[in-house]
Amino acid sequence: MQQLRSVLEEAQSNGVAVGHFNISDWILLKAVFASAQELKVPVIVGASEGERAYLGVAQIAALVRSLREEQIVPIFLNADHTHSLDSAIAAAKAGFDSIVYDLSALPFDENVKKTRHGVAILVEGEIGNIGTGSEIHESVPDHSKDLSTPEEAKQFVESTGVDILAPAVGNTHGMLQTMVQGSVKKRLDLRRIREIKHASRSLLTLHGGSGTDDHDFQDAIAAGINIIHINTELRLAWRRGLEAAFAKKPREIVPYKLLPIAEESIKEVVLDRLRLFNQPERQPLAQPGLHQ
Ligand SMILES: [Zn+2]
Repeated sequence: MQQLRSVLEEAQSNGVAVGHFNISDWILLKAVFASAQELKVPVIVGASEGERAYLGVAQIAALVRSLREEQIVPIFLNADHTHSLDSAIAAAKAGFDSIVYDLSALPFDENVKKTRHGVAILVEGEIGNIGTGSEIHESVPDHSKDLSTPEEAKQFVESTGVDILAPAVGNTHGMLQTMVQGSVKKRLDLRRIREIKHASRSLLTLHGGSGTDDHDFQDAIAAGINIIHINTELRLAWRRGLEAAFAKKPREIVPYKLLPIAEESIKEVVLDRLRLFNQPERQPLAQPGLHQ
């Protein structure tokens, strides 16, 4: 979708990134929407194949379309981690703005060949290994050998025609227990991001952003990251929010009196991440004297 491309290009020239948040129910979607609305920044709502299967492909698209009508800032819908052409087509038909066509589990050449066939709407391709599952993992798998190289990135973008590239640059899906506690943060290979950006000249997405060091995020944006995915942190806030709601109101059975507590818990995370991703743009805005 052309509008998403121009929002991403504008973000790039402003030195900010667009936040991408996964949803699989209405509470998550409400929280993401309300946060973007409050901060007046564009946002991407993502739904993977599993999330789409639960909420319904057409239903997610309809919900986002209805929110878009009352939205003053752009809200986009992304079909996250799509592994088959059929499900990519179903999402495109339902009205999704972009597709992450993820064939990264295949050997590189096969990934190139098949991704090329899928490039119809705004498509993101993935190379390297960043793991699967936005969940709490017991131990961290060693992905150090599966990082993307600048040469690979250039070749992939040129031979597939993807609009957006998702490289493996130290990011991983899911979080460790130590990251949930906050004692350990994911660190990114910033030099690699810069080199990949330089070689590929492509829009870049950072998947598996939950639990990443804040400074690394800012440096990664400066190095060329345009979209940042957050899922596990939202799922965690969703669960904690529900638990808090039940603990706070043990006898309550009215959903609309319980669910707003979970929504607030999710919103806190989304607002915090969106503020960080949109920071460089906000600073010059606060000092109008700097504008020529
Ligand atoms: Zn992902």
